[in-house]
Order: sequence, then C-alpha cells, then structure tokens
Amino acid sequence: MMKNSNSPFKIVVIITLVIVALLIALVVMINNNPESNEEKALDKQPSIEGQPTLGDSNAPVTVVEFGDFKCPACKAWGENIFPQLVSDYVDTGKVKFSFINVLFHGEESKLASLAAESVYKQNPEAYWGFHKVLFKEQPSENHDSKWITTEKILEVARSVSNIDTENLKSAIENDSEMKEVNKDTELVTEFDVKLTPTIMINGTMIEDPFDYEAIKKAIENALEGN
Ligand code: CA
Repeated sequence: MMKNSNSPFKIVVIITLVIVALLIALVVMINNNPESNEEKALDKQPSIEGQPTLGDSNAPVTVVEFGDFKCPACKAWGENIFPQLVSDYVDTGKVKFSFINVLFHGEESKLASLAAESVYKQNPEAYWGFHKVLFKEQPSENHDSKWITTEKILEVARSVSNIDTENLKSAIENDSEMKEVNKDTELVTEFDVKLTPTIMINGTMIEDPFDYEAIKKAIENALEGN
C-alpha cells in the first residue's frame, strides 16, 4: 500500500510543509528583529535641572518618567517596574531617576503635582516617600472618581516623615510652586509626550514602558555609549 512513496500528492504535501515552515521562520525572524520594534531615539533629552532625582547625581545614565498621579498605568508602573529599575540600576549607581509631572487628568493632576513640587521644595528627602504613598492611595477601581483633594494630600503628607503639613497646606493654597508645574508642562510639550507613563532613557523614548527587557537594553546601550 505505501510503496508509491513519491506520489505527486506526497510531494505537494512536502512542498507545502516546507513553505509553511519557511513562512513561520520568517515571521519569527521579523518579530525578533530589534529593528521592527525600535525605540524612538531623539536628538535631545529632557533637562532634569530642578527635578526630584533619585540616585547618584553623577550616575552616567538618566531615566525620566513623565507621569501623572491620577494615571492608573503610572501607579502600576511604579509598583511593578520601578522597584526593579531601582535595585538593578539606581542602587548600583548606574542610573539617576527623575519624575516629571504630566497633567493629563486636569485639576486633580494639577493639585497633586503642585503638592509634590511643594513637598520637594520644602524637603527633597521627603519627596519620594510622598510620591510613593500618594500613588498607593490611588484607588484601584474608579480612579476617575475624584480622590485627589487637599485633605487627602495632607493625610498622605502626615504619614511621611519630615513634612511640615501646615507649610505644605499654605504652599498649595498659594500656588507657590506653580512655576515648577508649568516647567514640567513645557517639557511635556517639548518632548511631545502623549501617554503616561512615558519613560525616557537619556534621549531614547521607550515604546512600551512595561517592557522591562527593552528598558534594560536601552540602559545597557546608554552605559556602553558613555
Ligand atoms: Ca517638576
């Protein structure tokens, strides 16, 4: 029964299988090709002068997050990616990290940014603690409902060491650090930030901020370039 092993039918099947295998190989190759998922390299990088900055100020690589306290993806990024970045690169002195405010969610974003800038101005050491707790307070459901109020900010501030809440309250009421908030907004415009979080490694904008391998790769490339 199986004698006629070179039947045209069998050859057609074999050729088809070879073509399918080649197509699969081609698709895999394209998907693995870094060129097809290239990060956006710009000819400039955001100035971090006057920005809250974590890590060694002499670290060779700068990572900037354009973020919004009202944005759920920023909360998720801060909880899932940021700690890895800190332990792999900030704590090892290779990266310094800055946060720039984005006001995509209106008045609440503005209030949170104003508060964060005021905390930073008052005591730079207290900034990252405040930053972390404020994101933690973002409700995981109904984040669109109003939750950023002066009341909430003062409650957060009280839970962080070394913040003078009376001073913070008057700074918020007087829009004391509005200039800093506006400076951030100018950077958002200058770098054409459309999504939050947007992560930049020196002058490279990361396509998918949740792709930690891409972040690592961009940092390693930047380290080699130094
Ligand atoms: Ca700022």
